[in-house]
Amino acid sequence: MTETLHIIGGGMAGSEAAWQAANAGVPVVLHEMRPKVGTFAHQTGLLGEMVCSNSFRSDDSEQNAVGLLHWEMRAANGLIMATADKHKLPAGGALAVDRDPFAQSVTDALLAHPNVTVEYGEITELPTEGQWIIATGPLTSGALAQAIATETGAEALAFFDAIAPIVYAESIDMDKAWMQSRYDKGETEEERTAYLNCPMDKEQYEAFIDALLAADKTEFREGETAGYFDGCLPIEVMAERGRETLRFGPMKPVGLTNPHQPDVKAYAVVQLRRDNKLGTLYNIVGFQTKMKYGAQTDVFKMIPGLQDASFARLGGIHRNSFINSPTLLDDQMRLRTRPNIRFAGQITGVEGYVESAAMGLLAGRLASAEILGQTASAPPDTTATGALITHITGGAEAKTFQPMNVNFGLFPPVEGLKSGRRGRKDRYKAYTDRAKVDWQGWLAG
Ligand SMILES: Cc1cc2nc3c(=O)[nH]c(=O)nc-3n(C[C@H](O)[C@H](O)[C@H](O)COP(=O)(O)OP(=O)(O)OC[C@H]3O[C@@H](n4cnc5c(N)ncnc54)[C@H](O)[C@@H]3O)c2cc1C
Repeated sequence: MTETLHIIGGGMAGSEAAWQAANAGVPVVLHEMRPKVGTFAHQTGLLGEMVCSNSFRSDDSEQNAVGLLHWEMRAANGLIMATADKHKLPAGGALAVDRDPFAQSVTDALLAHPNVTVEYGEITELPTEGQWIIATGPLTSGALAQAIATETGAEALAFFDAIAPIVYAESIDMDKAWMQSRYDKGETEEERTAYLNCPMDKEQYEAFIDALLAADKTEFREGETAGYFDGCLPIEVMAERGRETLRFGPMKPVGLTNPHQPDVKAYAVVQLRRDNKLGTLYNIVGFQTKMKYGAQTDVFKMIPGLQDASFARLGGIHRNSFINSPTLLDDQMRLRTRPNIRFAGQITGVEGYVESAAMGLLAGRLASAEILGQTASAPPDTTATGALITHITGGAEAKTFQPMNVNFGLFPPVEGLKSGRRGRKDRYKAYTDRAKVDWQGWLAG
C-alpha cells in the first residue's frame, strides 16, 4: 500500500501540495486547524483562504517573474492557479480573484478528491514518523512554532520579518556610489569591498529626514506588534527619535572614503549589502520600514546613487513565522535533522500567495516522488520555481535571511544581453523564454 503523506496547514502551500501529491496517486491527509482554532488574520474555515489582498499580482509571463510563476504552476496542473482563473475579476494586467468563491472552490476540489482526507484540528508536535509537509504559514500556531524552535534552535525561527528594501544592483549609479567596508575591514579584497556606499551632504540628509518624517506609514494590525520593537526599529521611528539618530546609527559616515570625492567628508552614508550569491541584489542596511510602498520609492530615490533604483522588493515589518531555510533545509525541502519532514510555503522564507503556492507545488511533487520510489530533483534555477528554491535553500545569505518575493535578480544571467535599464525588456523576455523551456523539461523529467 502506498504510504500516506500528511500535510499540516491547508493554506496556499498546503492545499497545492495536497493536490499535487494526490494527483500523483499518493493518499494525503491534510490537517487544518481552522475553524476549530483561528488566527488573527483568517476569517473562515475554508482551505486556500486569502488573508488580505485578493490579488495574485501580475499575470504577465513574459516580462514579470511572478507572472512566470503563474505560467509554471498552470503548466504543472496547479490547483491554486486553475481556481484563480475560474474566479478571476477584472484587474488590468493583474490576476485578482473573488476571494470567497475562490477558497470555497479550493476546499470543494480537495474534499472531492478520492486521495485526500481533510482532518480539522491543530497539530502541536513535530511528527516523529511517516512523511510530512509543514505548511503552516506566517501565523503558525504557538505550540507548533515552539516545537519547531525546539528542534531547530530558537534563533532559527523568526516571528517577525523586518525587511529592508532590496535593490537591483544594475540600477545603482556607481558614478555616485562606491564599494568599501568600514575601515576597510576584512581578510580578503571581497570582504574589504563588501558594502556599497551612497554618500549624502548635510542638505541632502536634512531633506531625507524631512521626507521620512512626512511619509505615509502603514499602521500595525491588532496582534501584530508584540515583541517586535526589541530588535528592529523602523527607520522612520529612529528618525522620529531625533534628527541625528540615523547619522549615529545605520547612516553613520565613519571609516569610509568616497573615491569620487576623496577630499569631501560625507555627512551621512547609506550602506547596501549584497543579498544573494549572484551579486544581483543589494539590501539597504538597517532600513526596515513601515512606510507605504509608494512613499518608500519616493523617499529612497532621494539617496544619491539610488535616484534610478529599481526595487526587487520594498521594505516591511510583519508578523511572520519563518525558518532559516538556507541552514535548515536540503535541496529537497527536507529538514536536514529530520528528513521525513518537509517545509513549504511562507514558513520557508518565501513571501506572498503565489510564491507560497509554488513552494507547496514543489514540496508536494518532491514528497510524492519520494513516497513512490522515484527520483526527482528540484527544478533548475533558470525557472521561477527553481530560482526561488535555490535562493532559500542556499543562494541567500543565511545570516541575514529574510523572506523573499520571486524576482529576476534571483535568476542566473543570460549571457550576451545588454545590462542596465535599456536592455531590460529583452533580458526579461530571454529569462522567461529560457524558463519555460527548462520548466517543461523538468516536468517531463
Ligand atoms: C496579515 C497578513 C496579510 C498578508 N497579506 C498578503 C497579501 O496581501 N498578499 C500576499 O500575497 N500575501 C500576503 N500575506 C502573506 C500570506 O500569508 C502568504 O502569502 C500566504 O497565505 C502564505 O501561504 P501559506 O500556505 O504558507 O500559509 P497560509 O495561507 O497562512 O496557510 C497556513 C495554514 O496553516 C494553518 N495552521 C497554522 N498552524 C497550524 C497547526 N499547528 N495545525 C494545523 N493547521 C495550522 C492555518 O490555519 C492556515 O490555514 C499576508 C500575511 C499576513 C499574516
